[in-house]
Amino acid sequence: MTTPMRRQYLDLKRQHPDTLLLFRLGDFYETFDEDARTLAKVCDVALTSRPVGHDQRVPLAGVPYHSLDTYLGKLMAAGLKVAIAEQVSEPGKGLVERQITQVMTRGTVTSPDLLTQAQNLLAAVSLDRSLNMAGIAHCDLTEGHLAVTQLEAAGSAELEIQVADELMRLEPSEILVSTRFRAENPDLDGTLQRMGCVISELEPWIWAEPRADQQVREQFRVQSLEGFGLAHKPAAVSAVGGLLHYVQSYQPLIVPHLDRVQTYAVTDFMNLDEFTRLNLELTENLRTRTQEGSLLEILDRTLTPMGGRRLRQWLGQPLLDVSSIDHRLDAVTQLYDDGLELRALRELLAQIGDLSRWVQRTLYGTALPRDLAGIRNTLALVPDLATRLQETGPGPVTDLLHTLPRCSDIHDLLDRALVANPPPALNQVGMIRTGFDAELDKLVAQTHDAKTRLAQMEQTERERLDIPSLKVGYNKVFGYFIEVSRSQSPKVPPEYIRKQTLVNAERYFTEELKSYESLILNADQRQLELEQELFRGICAKLRDRQEDLQHLAHQLATLDVYAALAECAVLHNYARPNMTDAFGLPIQEGRHPVVAKATALPDVAFVPNDVHMEADNALQILTGPNMAGKSTFLRQVALIVLMAQMGSYVPARAASIGVVDRIFTRIGASDAIQRGLSTFMVEMVETANILHHATNRSLLILDEIGRGTSTYDGLAIAWAILEYIHNAEHLGAKTLFATHFHELTDLAERLPRVRNYHVTVDDTGETITFLHTIVAGRAERSFGVQVGRMAGLPLAVVHRADQILGQLEASGAAVPASLGDVISEAKPEQAVQPTLYLEEHPAVSALKNLQVDGITPLDAMNKLYELVKLAEQ
Ligand code: ATP
Repeated sequence: MTTPMRRQYLDLKRQHPDTLLLFRLGDFYETFDEDARTLAKVCDVALTSRPVGHDQRVPLAGVPYHSLDTYLGKLMAAGLKVAIAEQVSEPGKGLVERQITQVMTRGTVTSPDLLTQAQNLLAAVSLDRSLNMAGIAHCDLTEGHLAVTQLEAAGSAELEIQVADELMRLEPSEILVSTRFRAENPDLDGTLQRMGCVISELEPWIWAEPRADQQVREQFRVQSLEGFGLAHKPAAVSAVGGLLHYVQSYQPLIVPHLDRVQTYAVTDFMNLDEFTRLNLELTENLRTRTQEGSLLEILDRTLTPMGGRRLRQWLGQPLLDVSSIDHRLDAVTQLYDDGLELRALRELLAQIGDLSRWVQRTLYGTALPRDLAGIRNTLALVPDLATRLQETGPGPVTDLLHTLPRCSDIHDLLDRALVANPPPALNQVGMIRTGFDAELDKLVAQTHDAKTRLAQMEQTERERLDIPSLKVGYNKVFGYFIEVSRSQSPKVPPEYIRKQTLVNAERYFTEELKSYESLILNADQRQLELEQELFRGICAKLRDRQEDLQHLAHQLATLDVYAALAECAVLHNYARPNMTDAFGLPIQEGRHPVVAKATALPDVAFVPNDVHMEADNALQILTGPNMAGKSTFLRQVALIVLMAQMGSYVPARAASIGVVDRIFTRIGASDAIQRGLSTFMVEMVETANILHHATNRSLLILDEIGRGTSTYDGLAIAWAILEYIHNAEHLGAKTLFATHFHELTDLAERLPRVRNYHVTVDDTGETITFLHTIVAGRAERSFGVQVGRMAGLPLAVVHRADQILGQLEASGAAVPASLGDVISEAKPEQAVQPTLYLEEHPAVSALKNLQVDGITPLDAMNKLYELVKLAEQ
């Protein structure tokens, strides 16, 4: 027999089986069964058990109700969906009634205490395999901006790539898909799993076209979706429908405020595929999966959370149009050129918070007094900001605030209404300033008056009754009382009525005290109600100006990004790129923005390098020793182009950037292993993607293609790929191709647009020093064996490898048909035979250091013994 409470729990759990159910039991939220194990693990709380019937115990773990938010934050961060079952009837006889009052998911939370990252996107993906179409809708509910795109591909593999690319760009916290999605799209599902976001499933009927179409039209109160650019975009409509349905289920109060949707095309921006984003480490470091060591870390010098979100967006969507890029660059230049103004401006920006989210919360009805104070403080800075910008002279930054709605009426309202530091919660009095509302002032005066009279009463009663220790006090249970010590209690007059007896004192009340009490308590309650009413009224006024306020937030975010990019340019000595529609990509003294700054290189200066790339030398083969800096150089070129097209200055002395439509990267097999994709197949899929989609306006960064297979196959594929890029009509793209297949350098003699470059080393014969300088011409060798030695390979392996290399090179063939014909058998004594670069035997070093001149015969004899001993070691 299970207990009634257990049955109640199981009933509630059935309503939301995919959630972790927090079940209110007195002062705790309890979890049971598997949920208890999860809670214990994620929140690090004790796992116990509880009887739930005859001979039946189940796992139990709980958290105290007053620290719910802390634990919710952890549960959200872990990607869990959480349902909260509250007690909805008074505890008394029988089972307390419970209901699920809230369900929270990572993409739908808006409470600032539960948001763990700067942006919190909820995305919905609707796929139509038969039409090779997909819709991706996304929304950050904290900002209320809903956007959607429709992707159309020639085939299903291409569609998957496009979907993955766009989702990688968006980096959502939660992705909504149909319940059929996983089974129908195992590869794409794998990609989503790797992204580490929460995946939530909705029934297929929710996404179905007629229903989604109706839901979207009803939501935006329109007959036709044409005005939103959604006509004949079934996949996009379906995605928006799915997203709206989900928000309706979990945040019904927010839905009415999502009153428009912006449609965009991925082709409006530079397309960066999933691999390129990862390989270039735009927002996270490949190895640590954190922001540290990424381009974002270098560039993000924004001072407001909304500016931070905007910068991330710009980084993910570099522009294609020269004049739009120049517009951004002009704005950065305006601030870059005026260091003093930049600093003053940034000091002001540092005081601005998350205006966008505060405004949105007033709209949702979830704002707290501190949100309004934040809006007021921000608005107070706007006139100063505008003055500062005027002082930088005419330019795009000044224009930002020209068109800026100052919202001074809202500032005045908030300034008059709110005290400087309002209380944190809405259920505390004291947020409204004196003078704002006459009725409130009257109430406050009354309470004040009653409190003064109470204080006076204490004094007069002490004197009247001659009881100096008499005091008037208050507690929540008994209200106001007069306390007299036990020894003095005989002195109290008959009108004192006993209320409570303590160990050493008696507490009384009188009619007069009661009247003050009801005056004060009623006034307090009334004050609270009135302040809340006034607060709601202010929020309503803000709602009326919501568009202007959000517009202002938008402009401030943009200003913050311009200032951050200017600051970055000044700090790291970047140069303004010259943007053109021409083909060429000449870069003078380019640097890798992250490696050049890496703390791992404190003593070694980063060596800048030039790029000379025009249409007649668009394919550049880069050879050079391992560890010389080939990959760094390739990435550096891609990052410079990307930074320029997002509107940033670039790490170079000068650069002229022929705008590219896409950057493709294919970087070594080892990097793929980190993503759990280690096969040569993946290398080829990525390469195929590049060859199919690149145009002659693209930039291709190909690092060690063909390494994941046998030398013959790899070389053959690499050769054919280079030929194809060179010859195919739609290609001829700007290409940097780093390789250890030195044979490929022969292509420069066969194909007119191929050139060889190599990274130089200083080869003294004893050691090699990496100079990191890139010069024209091919490299002679890779020094792989030497690098192996530097990495600590056992000497025996190094010696043998060196020997084999010598024999292979002597054989004259690139890769002999039978290695057995060329390579001799390994002999034990050969394993330690010293060769060039290898460490000297200590006996030889000792011999070399011997001073023979003037040595006595006895010393000579002793040295000889020592040497023999050394030789035997
Ligand atoms: P491999 O062929 O073994 O993959 P690689 O030639 O691609 O090597 P990178 O990985 O680019 O070499 O660079 C190796 C290291 O050299 C980097 O980690 C960096 O610390 C340093 N390095 C690269 N480029 C430069 C430079 N221009 N100036 C100074 N140090 C550099």
